[in-house]
Amino acid sequence: MNCLFCRIIAGEIPSAKVYEDEYVLAFRDIDPQAPVHVLVIPKKHADSVLDAEPEMLVRMTEAAKKIASDEGLAEKGFRLVINTGEEGGQSVKHLHMHLLGGRSMQWPPG
Ligand code: AMP
Repeated sequence: MNCLFCRIIAGEIPSAKVYEDEYVLAFRDIDPQAPVHVLVIPKKHADSVLDAEPEMLVRMTEAAKKIASDEGLAEKGFRLVINTGEEGGQSVKHLHMHLLGGRSMQWPPG
């Protein structure tokens, strides 16, 4: 298995887990870009949002909402990001949603 995030799901590579259910795993980003920076990934592999099953996106978003509340972000807000492909800035080819919060976000993003 040469997918980094599949290896994290399998427990072959450690992660700082914040949430897990039957469909998704969420863990802290190793290079955080905000005080809270969590990655939410589907347990079933998809390269990107382009080949995601709709169910995956629902499960990921529902998990992100729960984590945001648990992390105290619901009142002030947060950002959910799915980088896709080369120009989208995707570096890991396993679908993932970034949950970023704990500071004011810039718009447009860089
Ligand atoms: P992206 O650039 O959108 O593909 O996001 C990939 C993210 O994975 C980056 O923010 C990385 O910091 C993060 N990352 C890479 N390796 C690990 C790891 N072993 N544990 C946690 N986060 C990671």
